[in-house]
Amino acid sequence: MSKITFSFATYQRPFVTPLVTHHGTWEVRSGIIIRIADDEGRVGWGEIAPLSWFGSETLAQAIAFCQEIEKKSLTEAVIKEIPSHLTACQFGFECALEDLYHHPTVAEDSLDYSYLLPAGKEALRACQQERRTTFKWKIGVKPLEEELEIFTQLVPLLQGAKVRLDANGGLSLAKAIAWLKIADETGVVEFLEQPLPPAQFQEMLELSREYQTAIALDESVATLTQLEACYHNQWRGIYVIKPAIAGSPQKLRRLCRELKLDLVFSSVFESKIGRQAVLNLARELGTQRALGFSINHWFKEI
Ligand SMILES: [Mg+2]
Repeated sequence: MSKITFSFATYQRPFVTPLVTHHGTWEVRSGIIIRIADDEGRVGWGEIAPLSWFGSETLAQAIAFCQEIEKKSLTEAVIKEIPSHLTACQFGFECALEDLYHHPTVAEDSLDYSYLLPAGKEALRACQQERRTTFKWKIGVKPLEEELEIFTQLVPLLQGAKVRLDANGGLSLAKAIAWLKIADETGVVEFLEQPLPPAQFQEMLELSREYQTAIALDESVATLTQLEACYHNQWRGIYVIKPAIAGSPQKLRRLCRELKLDLVFSSVFESKIGRQAVLNLARELGTQRALGFSINHWFKEI
């Protein structure tokens, strides 16, 4: 293989409206764009978009790794040996290498996306303005009674669309049961996403067997190592996969082939380079479910 040169630059993109989840408020997306080139003039781009509060390395760790790589020469072997705790780096570098040789692209408008509704009562107005097959709504942000009341008003506005309820691990067992009951009654919920914190895996496993509404793991499966562990602990529900922080795309391909997973591909608010790489993977690996990607309205153009 020919010699590879490498450079990188960091970026910051402010959200139009800060993203409110059970984890807190998120105002600026920071990440790294990497560029590699070989001596035949081919160029490959990749993006490292860490989300440390979700389980990946920090941005500082990723920058330190890029600085280290800058000092030594980059080879395919170095990329294959990126340490397992640097999952966003594994993704960014492997994608850049794939881009160097293939340049795969998927037309973004050829895929089905879920639409992220704002938290709280704002969801009602937004839901009426957008015609989608799938919406997503963050719960566990306001008191249960208030959210159940808003949800009840949301149901007739969906007009045949489904809604994903994402709790970001912020519910108690009693609240999760309240949501599953109303989800079963109304039949409009595609799945309840990460009702309990990852430590309460066993409770979620039991809930997934007790209620009709499907449960999806998200925070529990931030990395492919965690996903494998949940699979081996008998999880047969849905897995939300965020490829940009999950680790090696090669490993993801292997797991998909071997385990036949029910996957939802999701974004971590990466920019165009990372998003394109994730969409390529989603298209290649196939899924019946809408992508968790409806995000263009969330960034200020700078
Ligand atoms: Mg989620």
